[in-house]
Amino acid sequence: MDQRSKLPTADDIDKIICAEIPDKNVNPDLYQVIKDSMIHGSCGAANYNSPCMVDRLCSKFYPKAFSDLTKIGKDGYAVYRRRPSNISVEKSRFHCDNRYVVPYNPMLSVRYRAHINVEWCNQSGSIKYLFKYINKGPDKVVVIFEPKYQAEKPKNEIKDYFDCRYVSASEAIWRLFKFPIQYRSTPVQRLFFHIEGKKP
Ligand SMILES: [Zn+2]
Repeated sequence: MDQRSKLPTADDIDKIICAEIPDKNVNPDLYQVIKDSMIHGSCGAANYNSPCMVDRLCSKFYPKAFSDLTKIGKDGYAVYRRRPSNISVEKSRFHCDNRYVVPYNPMLSVRYRAHINVEWCNQSGSIKYLFKYINKGPDKVVVIFEPKYQAEKPKNEIKDYFDCRYVSASEAIWRLFKFPIQYRSTPVQRLFFHIEGKKP
């Protein structure tokens, strides 16, 4: 990658990625999107039934630690700036502060008003990350209706493995018209050989 495209410093990261709740008065539009789409949880002690919970811990490692500055950790991953502040947003009666913000790009968030997680990748492992998403298949949605506040439930393995698949419009049309979904041909080549007393 070209040196100018690498964005290696913490200042570079701060120009593109933010992991803090924006000021409601300064940028109400951005505040609304972040509040609605970019707050992780609630999980942990506030909600043990959250899908991110594995063995009573958040598998996405939320809440993250506060950090006054953006820095690059020893493992090569970015530790985004998450300053302690009084600003928090309420989610399922739980007050989420900057430690619960999923890193985002302010411009993309306001433009598309959706959950868009932006992460700093500046290592060879990012190739693996890109290919993982390219090959992930179409979007799917699993919807579960259950009472809002429920005591901790025993693990239900059948439910955990229950999966649904969302077939996108283009994939549905492809199948309706019975276009081939895979190709296979057996290469057969006739070999000429000579049998004694006969012509080939
Ligand atoms: Zn979590």
